Amino acid sequence: MTTPPITQDVLTLPRKLPEGGRMNLVGLTRSQMQDALIAMGTPERQAKMRVGQIWQWIYHWGVQDFAAMTNLAKGYRLELAQHFEIARPEIVSRQLSEDGTRKYLLRIAGGHEVEAVYIPEESRGTLCISSQVGCTLTCSFCHTGTQKLVRNLTAAEIVGQVLVARDDLGEWPERGAPKNETRLVSNVVLMGMGEPLYNFDNVRDAMKVVMDGEGLSLSRRRITLSTSGVVPEIARTATEIGCLLAVSFHATTDEVRDKLVPINKRWNIKTLLDALREYPRLSNSERITFEYVMLKGVNDSDDDARRLVKLIAGIPAKINLIPFNEWPGAPYQRSDWARIEAFADIVHKAGYASPIRTPRGEDIMAACGQLKSATERGRRSRAEIAAEVAPAQA
Ligand code: SAH
Ligand code: SF4
Repeated sequence: MTTPPITQDVLTLPRKLPEGGRMNLVGLTRSQMQDALIAMGTPERQAKMRVGQIWQWIYHWGVQDFAAMTNLAKGYRLELAQHFEIARPEIVSRQLSEDGTRKYLLRIAGGHEVEAVYIPEESRGTLCISSQVGCTLTCSFCHTGTQKLVRNLTAAEIVGQVLVARDDLGEWPERGAPKNETRLVSNVVLMGMGEPLYNFDNVRDAMKVVMDGEGLSLSRRRITLSTSGVVPEIARTATEIGCLLAVSFHATTDEVRDKLVPINKRWNIKTLLDALREYPRLSNSERITFEYVMLKGVNDSDDDARRLVKLIAGIPAKINLIPFNEWPGAPYQRSDWARIEAFADIVHKAGYASPIRTPRGEDIMAACGQLKSATERGRRSRAEIAAEVAPAQA
C-alpha cells in the first residue's frame, strides 16, 4: 500500500521541533493525528484505531510517556517515542492565593510566557486560559493590553494549559478506580491573555480536543469564549465551536466604548449587537454573557444601566458586572460598591441576571485583566515585541 502524502495541515503545524525532531501529539485534531501516524508508517487501516487508543491515553488517563500505553505493542510504542512526544508547557511558577485560586506562569517555545488561572468554587472549578502571548488590542483598562502581542498560541499550547492544570491538581483518573464524577476542572473560560478570535483556527482546534468525548470530555456548554467583539468571527464561533459566548461590552455609547475597547472603532455597538443577536440560534445555546467592567465615573451611571438594557433588548443575556481590578499605573478606579449594586439593580429589574463577579486571586494579581507576565515585561522592550507581531492580525 502506498503511503498517502502528509496533509497540508500536518505540514503547516506551527511548531518548533525539539532536539531529535519529535512532533508533539498534543493539540492535534483526530484527523491530524491520524495523518501523522500514517506518515510514521502506521498501516492506514489501523490508523483510526491507533488514534483512538493513543487519544485515550493522552486525554483520558493523562499519560505522558508512550511506554505506559500498554494496549499497544512494545515495538510500536518505541516507534512512537522516536517520532513523537506528549509535551505540555513548562510550569515556571505557581502561585496560590488565599482564596484557593492558583495562577500558573507557563513557558512555551521561544521562551515566551503565558498565564493560566484555576478558580475553585463550591460546585465547580474554572480554568481561565490564554490564547495569545499579550494582545494586539489595547483596551485602556486592561493590563494585558499594555503588553504587545508576541505571538499566537498553538493548539498544543492552548490544550496544554488544561493538561498542566489537571496534572497539578492531580485530576487524572486512577486506573481501575471507580469513575469519579466530580471534576476539578469542570469549566474552561478563554478569558486569559489575548483575543481568542484573532487566533481562531488554533482556538477552535484546541476546543475540539477539549470537548472530545473520549478524552477531556468537557461539554461545549462548559466552555466560554470571551471576545472584545471581533464581529466577522462571531458566526464561525457559533457554527465551528458552539461554545458559550461572552462579550466584553463595557460601555453603552460608541463614544465611551471607542475609548475603552478600541476595536469598537472598527465594529461599533450596533454592528456587534447585530452579530450577537444571531449567536444563540446559530450555536443553539441559551444566552450570551455581557461583561461589563465597572469604572468609577466612566461607565457606571444609572443612565448607563438603562441604556444597556435597552440596547440588548431581545437578546437572551446575562450581564456580568466586573468590579475593575486595579493594576500598577492603571488610569481608572473601581466603582464604589453602592454604585455597582445600584447598577446591578436596574439591570436586574429589567429582567436580566446581573451577578457581580467577585474578584478572585487579587493577592496574586490573578484577577481579570491583571495577567501580564512580569518576566516578559522586564526582558523585552516594546519595540522588540512589536517587531514580532504576527502579520495576520487585523
Ligand atoms: N480578549 C478577550 C478575553 C480576555 S479578557 C476579551 O477582551 O474579551 C477577559 C475579561 O476581563 C474581558 O471582559 C475584559 O474586558 C476583562 N478585563 C480586562 N481587564 C480588566 C480589569 N483590569 N478589571 C476587570 N476586568 C478586566
Ligand atoms: Fe486584549 Fe481582551 Fe485585554 Fe482588550 S480586554 S486588551 S481584547 S485581552
